[in-house]
Amino acid sequence: MNKEQFINEIKKLNIKYTEEMLQKLEKYYEILYTENKKYNLTAITDKKEVFLKHFFDSLTITKIVDLDNQSLIDVGTGAGFPGIVLKIFFPKLDVTLLDSTTKKCIFLTKIVEELQLEKVKIINKRAEVYSKENREKYDIVTSRAVAPLKHLLEYSIPMLKVNGTFIALKSNITDEMKNIDKYYKKLSLKNETIIQFQLPSENSLRTIYKVEKYNVTAKKYPRQYSQIKKNDIM
Ligand code: SAM
Repeated sequence: MNKEQFINEIKKLNIKYTEEMLQKLEKYYEILYTENKKYNLTAITDKKEVFLKHFFDSLTITKIVDLDNQSLIDVGTGAGFPGIVLKIFFPKLDVTLLDSTTKKCIFLTKIVEELQLEKVKIINKRAEVYSKENREKYDIVTSRAVAPLKHLLEYSIPMLKVNGTFIALKSNITDEMKNIDKYYKKLSLKNETIIQFQLPSENSLRTIYKVEKYNVTAKKYPRQYSQIKKNDIM
C-alpha cells in the first residue's frame, strides 16, 4: 500500500488527517526500520507492507469504536500496534502502552520522544500483573495479535471502567469463541460485536471483536497466569 492508497483507505474510514500526522507516520516507519535491525521488533519491514499490515490495519479499529477524548490501554502493544498509530491520528486520546518485553518498551520510549507524542505512558509489565493493581481505570482496552481471546478477557477486563469497551484485533476468531459465554458471565460482559473484512490489496481476513463491561470485576480476577492457561475461568 503506497501513501496515496493509504490516504484513500483512511478517508473511507472517515479519519481526519493532517500533513503533520502523515509526516509522523513516515518518521515512525523510518525509526522502526532502523531499530528493527537491532531489536527484531517485527517480521514485516517493507514500507508498503508496514503501511498496510501495521499502520492501516491498526486504524481499522475505528470501524467499531469512537476514540475521541477517551483513555485507552493497548495490551501487548509490541512495536506500538495499534496504540502508537491511534495516538498519531487521535492526539486527544490518553494512551497507555503495555508490554512485557523490555526491548519493545525501549523502542516505544524512543518513538514517543522522536514523534513528540504527549500523554502516552509506557508500562513494562505483564498484563495479568498490571491489571491486579490498576482496576476500572480505562475507557477502552485494545489488544492485537497477543493471546487467545479467553486469556485476553481475563487479564484485560479488570482494567476497564464499568461501561468500558474491550477490543481485540485478530485474523480469525471462530475457534476462540468456544465456551466464551462462561467468561461473559463471570466478567460481566455484554453486547458482543464481531466485524469481519478483508484488508485492501491483499484480501487477507481480519476480525475486529468488541465486548462491553456492565459491572465491576470481582477481585479474584485475573487468576495467576499458570491457572489462566490451565483451566477455564471459574
Ligand atoms: N500488538 C502488536 C502487533 O500487533 O504487532 C504486537 C503483537 S506481538 C505478536 C505480541 C506482544 O504481546 C509481544 O510484544 C509480547 O511481549 C506481548 N505480550 C504477550 N503476552 C503478554 C502479557 N501477558 N502481558 C504483556 N504483554 C504481553
